[in-house]
Amino acid sequence: MEKSRIKHILVFLFVAVAGIALIVTGTRVSSPAQYPHETVDGGYTLTGNTTTMPPQETSSTSTSSTAATTTTESPTTTEIPTTTEESQESSSTTTSKTTPLSTTVTHSPSATKPKTSTKPASKPPKTTPKLQGAAAITFDDGPGPHTARLLNALKEYNAKATFFVVGNRVANNKALIQRMVNEGHEIANHSFSHPDFTKLSDGNVLSQIRKTSNAIAAITGEKPTLMRPPYGAFNRRVTGLAEQEGLALVLWSPSPEDWKYRKVDYVYNYILKHVKPGSTLLLHDIHGTTVDAVIKALPVLSERGIKLVTVSELVDLKPGDVHPSYWRK
Ligand code: ZN
Repeated sequence: MEKSRIKHILVFLFVAVAGIALIVTGTRVSSPAQYPHETVDGGYTLTGNTTTMPPQETSSTSTSSTAATTTTESPTTTEIPTTTEESQESSSTTTSKTTPLSTTVTHSPSATKPKTSTKPASKPPKTTPKLQGAAAITFDDGPGPHTARLLNALKEYNAKATFFVVGNRVANNKALIQRMVNEGHEIANHSFSHPDFTKLSDGNVLSQIRKTSNAIAAITGEKPTLMRPPYGAFNRRVTGLAEQEGLALVLWSPSPEDWKYRKVDYVYNYILKHVKPGSTLLLHDIHGTTVDAVIKALPVLSERGIKLVTVSELVDLKPGDVHPSYWRK
């Protein structure tokens, strides 16, 4: 009797443990958690000037359904920093990018998802800079806690950058925005709260654009003329709405996916290897590792004769244009 009772108890315990193990594993497997590309906005909180950011502009797996052929430009395939966008770009037909983001309020990570954008399969044509030897360095999702020391370094090397700021961070970083303008940098629109524009109504896209442009103009006196859609996600409808608001779309080439690879040496080496005249480099100034990498790379780029300029100094763009042009849909 005793024996069989013990046996029953043992069997029960075994089943219970196995059940718990199954539940845990199952949950993990099914959990989404993939951020797309440029950054996803997601779960981070901004308190005053201190921000904790979530994943960044990431490319993710493709989510969007609209495009028939799309590939995601995401790191999915490669986990090794050594891999560059080149391989991704050349091999895939579709790419989606997402950008991570930042925002003010607390976002729930679950609400975040990557976006998809489709990129042409063809090799990007070279951008011919207006100024010989010029390249553009661009920073998304800020301003953030590392932006001030980035500005210090840019000033030291007389390098100009373009900051695609998130609207809901602008009012709390008024002094940084003003400083950017005073020091010759360009301020551009990166939405108000980093949503995927392809999933918003026209009215909501316009609201995201206008709130941000107005917040910038309230400090600088001028509305921006350039916009980078969060996650690099856009379509013709978004391009048309941007045009209506007087904005050209600026995507990028290249990007080390610094939101994903938070290693100074990786980002530094990537910059030195890939930044050439005509490049529009995408980085995120909300990451300390990225800012450290840029600080390290600036003197080397300068020695090579690469002149870092704003996007508007690099190329002439008018409302509705898409840069680099191979991104146009
Ligand atoms: Zn972004």
